[in-house]
Amino acid sequence: MNNHDLLIYNTLTRTKQKFVPLQPGHVGMYVCGPTVYGDAHLGHARPAVTFDLVFRYLKHLGYKVRYVRNITDVGHLEHDADEGEDKIAKKARLEQLEPMEVAQHYTNRFNDAMKKLNVLPPSIEPHATGHIIEQEQLVQQIFDAGYAYESNGSVYFDVEKYNKDHHYGILSGRNLDDVRDASRELDGVGEKRNQADFALWKKAQPEHIMRWPSPWGDGFPGWHCECTAMGRKYLGDTFDIHGGGLDLIFPHHECEIAQAVAAQGKQMVRYWMHNNMITINGKKMGKSYNNFITLDEFFTGSHPLLQQAYSPMTIRFFILQAHYRSTVDFSNEALQASAKGLERLMEGIKQLERIEPQATGTVGKEFAEKLSADCYAALDDDFNSPIAISHLFDACRTINQLADKKASITPEGLEALKAAFSTFCFDILGLASEANGNAGREEAFGQAIDLLLNIRAQAKANKDWATSDRIRNELSALGFEVKDTKDGATWRLNK
Ligand code: ZN
Repeated sequence: MNNHDLLIYNTLTRTKQKFVPLQPGHVGMYVCGPTVYGDAHLGHARPAVTFDLVFRYLKHLGYKVRYVRNITDVGHLEHDADEGEDKIAKKARLEQLEPMEVAQHYTNRFNDAMKKLNVLPPSIEPHATGHIIEQEQLVQQIFDAGYAYESNGSVYFDVEKYNKDHHYGILSGRNLDDVRDASRELDGVGEKRNQADFALWKKAQPEHIMRWPSPWGDGFPGWHCECTAMGRKYLGDTFDIHGGGLDLIFPHHECEIAQAVAAQGKQMVRYWMHNNMITINGKKMGKSYNNFITLDEFFTGSHPLLQQAYSPMTIRFFILQAHYRSTVDFSNEALQASAKGLERLMEGIKQLERIEPQATGTVGKEFAEKLSADCYAALDDDFNSPIAISHLFDACRTINQLADKKASITPEGLEALKAAFSTFCFDILGLASEANGNAGREEAFGQAIDLLLNIRAQAKANKDWATSDRIRNELSALGFEVKDTKDGATWRLNK
């Protein structure tokens, strides 16, 4: 069935290009995964759902896809990714845990959240700490090619030298002067020849717990190394798709290109894909805005900015209702509209089961064929899920007419329509009916706790302290931690 002309917007060429894989029938795809030092939040959901759609659609088109999504468990430092304390080591120090306990805990939590969002697990999920040797080999190759230098036990990429032979900034559209101006004065700068240089290997200070031996002394790899090293290991020197969020274009992906070209003399990736970012009520997500909402908080509604719980499928559908290269703004109103839209779609699918076909029906199988052709055309145009969804909504209007007996459908027409909805809604868009599933129960559970807290707030307003204390104490005995903030009460279940 591979007669599709699939167009993909390539960030590198800034054009939509016809997708032609390197090896007929096979696709290699690498997507930057999470740094596992905290709970998965909304910012993780968008790339996960975006590349899940890409993965599902390529598989649907008949490609054998090897999808690699890494786990960053070392080397992602606090400032500009390669200066400051390691994010995982810091969390381990604060919580008195072994760094790998931190990484494992948040990897498990991340995978739980992905499962709820119906995101398929990747083919390979390599950890940076499991690939130190490959990263050291990459650093050595760059060193041997003359694009790296050692300084005080650390190894840096020589951006200035590289830029004489190649273009540093090819992906982000920057030139070296822009990069120099943007680089901030940071510690470690004294070791670098130039501010734009980035760390390939960092010397471990005596107190640093995550450390490995290397030709340059004990240390740990720079953050950008892992994706280049693991991408090449599992997908080859050249592979088809590399994805991630727009925020990774610079410096992370720019550095990945420089590392690959320096080490092997040619680029590693053929199509660079980037999803746009998510804002909350028009603001960038960030700790300083107090709008950092974790996925669990969405699923249970336990964050003061949320008016209610939103099911994982509502979050997934909301993300798919925007094209992956557009910005998305989360607000309660927008999420409520998505929940309604999803319900409408699922109701249409349920109605299909109840409709009695008629041999003399006026709607034939051409209707489903046109629907499929329209959905394929949308998805072939750089995975345009919102357009595909709008075609499914249009078809729901016809389903309503059939259910109201204002129109009739032939048996072949009905089978074809059921098949089309099942293919596009479930297989490709990855939606799942959750009315009777866990997710629906979890949403109702969160709403019940919110209801109790609303009754408590009312009791407090009426100075009915006996009731308000009773609700708080009994929730606490059941393991709920209730916190009062200026925007209302929040809760979490400590179990
Ligand atoms: Zn990466």
